[in-house]
Parts: sequence; structure tokens; C-alpha cells
Amino acid sequence: MSRPSVSEPSSLRAIPSVDQLLRSETANQFRDLIGAARLTDLARQAIDELREGLQNSSTTETKNELLTKAASRLEELCRHDRSAGIRRVINATGVILHTNLGRAPLSDAARKALTSEAAGYCTVEYDLGTGTRGRRAARVEELLVQVTGGEAGLVVNNCASAALLILSVLARDAETIVSRGELVEIGGDFRVPEVMSNSGTQMVEVGTTNRTKLEDYRRAISDRTRLIMRVHPSNYRIIGFTHAPALKELATLAHEKGLLLYEDAGSGVVTDLSKFGLGEEPLIRDSIDAGVDVVSFSGDKLLGASQAGLIVGRHSVIERLRKHSLYRALRADKLCLAVLEVTLNAHRRGALEEIPALRMLGLSKEVLEQRATEFAKRVNEASDSISARLVPGESAVGGGSGPNVHPATTLISLSHATLTANELEQSLRQQTPPAIGRISDDQLLLDLRTVEPNEEPELLTAVLNMS
Ligand SMILES: *Cc1c(COP(=O)(O)O)cnc(C)c1O
Repeated sequence: MSRPSVSEPSSLRAIPSVDQLLRSETANQFRDLIGAARLTDLARQAIDELREGLQNSSTTETKNELLTKAASRLEELCRHDRSAGIRRVINATGVILHTNLGRAPLSDAARKALTSEAAGYCTVEYDLGTGTRGRRAARVEELLVQVTGGEAGLVVNNCASAALLILSVLARDAETIVSRGELVEIGGDFRVPEVMSNSGTQMVEVGTTNRTKLEDYRRAISDRTRLIMRVHPSNYRIIGFTHAPALKELATLAHEKGLLLYEDAGSGVVTDLSKFGLGEEPLIRDSIDAGVDVVSFSGDKLLGASQAGLIVGRHSVIERLRKHSLYRALRADKLCLAVLEVTLNAHRRGALEEIPALRMLGLSKEVLEQRATEFAKRVNEASDSISARLVPGESAVGGGSGPNVHPATTLISLSHATLTANELEQSLRQQTPPAIGRISDDQLLLDLRTVEPNEEPELLTAVLNMS
């Protein structure tokens, strides 16, 4: 076999070494930003890719050209490595509690509490009055009691962990009765039967998908029963020939038999939101008044705070939950507690306009039409290639809440001289900050309901940069 000559253009020998690539300008630029070890991994990946690409090709590139190519790929990999993770986006989808985009946006007061109170050292478990250890979350629990009428409250990581804790502590190795109409999946893999089995309680299903009677529950009670569970179906509705006993009837039955009644209220609300069409979301105070022993609901749905599982109910039940070792594993962190404190306080004062999710929900059709008209006008004035027109449409609550609520809005439909709706949508996602719209009938649609007025200039810039 003859030795390949140095000038042979397609030789794999022209591929730069990982070390050579690591000495390049590009590598130097990223070393401190991503760390030397990660940089080496990515340089190796860039060289491997280059080698694979050359296996079956008869390239004529020189060693220098290949080094430039590898450096450019390394830069791409480094940039990708740095951009991954949580970044702020403009939500122009009109879905208020968009689970993929972080559900409820925090209030200004909550953002301030995060950075100026909770981010550093803080009184998360410290009593300033006595200078000794204080009870974690005491203030949030106090506010929970005040806004719901429960005897006591407890905070855990999310509503799924609340259900796990409650079922584990109150009904492990015993039976829990639940209606077949409530064996729902909420999304993100929260499935009632699975939470039951994970918590070690034996699920006893009663009734049918559409109708469950009080008698069905009564007949299912055995000496192994500890709990009756009621689940709010959230994003799922059975309409027509349906029946479920009132909470009050269930509570009476449970107490007559020495059992406890647990309600997973899902989104739940602490302030009556029926003026927004959300009358079907259970008001936690009503559940407490009906005699429910323990209720759980989410912090980042219609409450408008951070991810959390809020639990309220009878003092004796809450204390059992608090004392269990599982609570220690599921408890909320100081950042979450700071946000909850400020947000629950806004509910207590009835200052709903301070809570972005509720403020967005309350935006009138007229205000949105006016904002959309102005926005479209600016796009059309500033761009020759992009055109904006208005179409009537609907926003959504999202997060599995209020599936029947579709607040009227005015959408901005964007089209481009040469680009398709999908290409526009992708381009908008790649702006800084990225903006997320929705595609319908081959149109890119923006809904300003979920865009804060102070974000509109950024959104306009992003739209005009699409190309
Ligand atoms: C949303 C929801 C959950 C899950 O809540 P997370 O806070 O997301 O864990 C559980 N149950 C019901 C009924 C829900 O609507």
C-alpha cells in the first residue's frame, strides 16, 4: 500500500486534532464561559463529527479549512450549551397558565420579595422576636387559614405531592373510595389511580363514569376504609346525564362512619372568580364549609403564585401530615414561600389586579382590540415584507383550569412575503427575548392578552426582526 501523499486532498490525515482545536481562538473565547472540561468534550464531538462527515466524501479541503470548519461547529455547540435552560420568553399564545411556559407569571411584589427578601439569608425558620428557631412557613400557613377558613394549613412542593402526602399519611395500607368519574389524568402524568398506588392506599372505585350516587359510596365502606376522595376533574368535563353527590353529603357520610373526606381541588380558588366565568372552579372556603377535612390545590394555577401544593383543613389532620417524615421530603423552599406570602396577601386584600394571571384574565375585549390595532398598525408601518391584520379569536385559561372558559380576544395574524407561518413562528422563537405565538390554519397568531404592555416594544422588535 502506498503512503498517502501530503498533498492528497481527501486524506483523513488533514483533520485537525482535538488539541489543535482547543488552541483555537473560538475555544479560548468559550473556555471560561463553559469550563475547560466541557469545552474539551465539545471539541472532541466537533472533531468526531468532522471525521464522520469525511468518511465517504472526497473533499478537497485543506487542513486549515477543516480547522475553520471544526471551530465553527465548536462555536455552535458552545452557544447551544450556553443557551439551554431557563430563559425568559414573551408569551403571545394567549394561554394564561401555560404549563410549558411556567404557568402563572409572578406579581411585581412577588418578584421583589424573591430578590430582596428571600434570595439571601432570611427568616425562613427563624423568629426575630425570640432569636430562636421559628416554624417554617408559619406566615404562609396563617394567610392560608385566613383566605380559606380552614383551621390549619401546610405547604408542599406541588399539588401532586400534596395528594401523595395526604393519601400516604391518612390511608396507607387501607382503602380510599373514589368515584369512577374522577379517575382522571390531569396532564404531566398526574393520574389519580397511580398517585393512589404510589401512596400505598388501596383504591376502591364506585359508581360509573357519568353517575355516582351517595349510596355507591355507602355500600363500598368496609372496616378497611379510611378515606373518601373527591377529585376535581380540571381539564375534563362529563356533560349530560351526570350525577355526583354534593360535598356536604359526602362529608356527612364520611363522618357518620368515622372516615375522613379529602378533596383534590386542582386549581381551586380562594377568591370568587365567577365574574371571569370560572364559577366551576371550587372555592376552597366552600369546601371547608361543606365539611371537607382536608383540601389540596396548586400554587401556580389560578392562585397566581409559584409552584406549590397548598393544603388546608382540620387542625388534627394537618398536624398528622406535618409530623410525617414524608412532609420533610416534600416541603417548599424559601423562594416559593416568599412568593406565596405576597400573593396570598394580595388575595386577602382583594387586590386581584396585582396578580398578573388574574389581571390578564380580566382584560376586556375592547382593551385587547385597541392594543392589537395599535400593534398591527406599527408592524404595517415599519415593515414592507411582514403584514399584520386583526382576526377575532379566543384566549384560554390553561393549566387544566376552566376548560370551558374562552375569553374573547383580538388576534394579530402575521404573514410574510416569502416565509410560511411555520418559518415565521420559528424565527420569532429565535429572537431575543424569544416570543411564542400560535399557529392556526397556516397563520401565525399573536394574542396580546398574555403580553404585558411593557413587553410590547420588545415583541414589536422581535416581529420586525423575523426574516
Ligand atoms: C393540576 C392538578 C394537579 C397537579 O397539580 P400540580 O401543582 O401541577 O402538581 C392535581 N390534581 C388536580 C385535580 C389538578 O387540577
